[in-house]
Amino acid sequence: MQGPILLNDGHKIPRIGFGTYKATDEEGVASVKTALQSGYRLIDTAAKYENEKAVGEGIKASEVPREELFITTKLWRENLGYAQAKKAFAESLKRLNLKYIDLYLIHWPANAKNHTNWQKTNAETWRALEDLQSEGTIKSIGVSNFWPEHLEPLLETARVKTAVNQIEFHPGYWQQAVTEYCKAQDIVVESWSPLGQGRVFGHPVLEKVAKKHNKSVAQICLRWIYQHDVVVIPKSTTPERIKENKNILDFELSVDEMRTINEIPKMGFSGELPNEWPDKV
Ligand code: NAD
Repeated sequence: MQGPILLNDGHKIPRIGFGTYKATDEEGVASVKTALQSGYRLIDTAAKYENEKAVGEGIKASEVPREELFITTKLWRENLGYAQAKKAFAESLKRLNLKYIDLYLIHWPANAKNHTNWQKTNAETWRALEDLQSEGTIKSIGVSNFWPEHLEPLLETARVKTAVNQIEFHPGYWQQAVTEYCKAQDIVVESWSPLGQGRVFGHPVLEKVAKKHNKSVAQICLRWIYQHDVVVIPKSTTPERIKENKNILDFELSVDEMRTINEIPKMGFSGELPNEWPDKV
């Protein structure tokens, strides 16, 4: 189970990565450098986080060779469409100060609530990603926050199948149906907010399992996701926690523990629904 996951396009994605949402410029540079020097190889950012420049600086400061890294960034929803996507990608690449991106994701789908011709908008955006991939500036292309209702029409017109779907996934909200659909389609699921941004801490089931394994609740959440064969990208700006979150390979959750965590009732949900959110573009 250890080692990277093979994507449906032949590239490999590390199972444990590092998130950067809400990291400010200063935190972004320092935390990315710390993460890379602690052994993380996957860094997740997005145009929307407004920290791509800092992430790029952190990458450079780490002195880890580029070919060892797996860098993800995302296309914000205001830039959906063929020409806009190509332009936004070029800007992201420039801010990151990189020659290519390992994984580029459509951050949120155009949906029926916000777009009159949402299927076409998603399809044209995807075509831009496919073209950028054939030009060589993106290795793998994927989506984020897509439900089957958004993926199905996309896959009908796609030349290249989506490699990854990054979705909210943590104890108390793990979108089992979306996950199963993706796995059946050979699409790797990546978990965002694997710790529910801290909202899941304190749950008695997680605390009990943590105590038994002499691990933190954060490590239990991450290990539970890892054992679901889902990529994790926890975020922290604290060096000790950055290291702690990576240290999940020296223990295993039993089948019973996995089931008990699976069965935790809904909690910690961000409230962001791909078919509704945001209210208006
Ligand atoms: P997260 O679940 O990773 O939680 C992060 C917060 O948990 C930190 O700010 C910190 O306060 C706390 N924390 C981290 N490690 C801890 C530890 N060991 N002990 C105690 N507290 C700890 O939340 P996130 O940042 O929302 O998600 C992770 C990454 O996923 C993001 O940084 C971003 O890269 C990505 N993301 C993507 C989307 C999307 O729409 N695609 C949405 C949200 C986040």
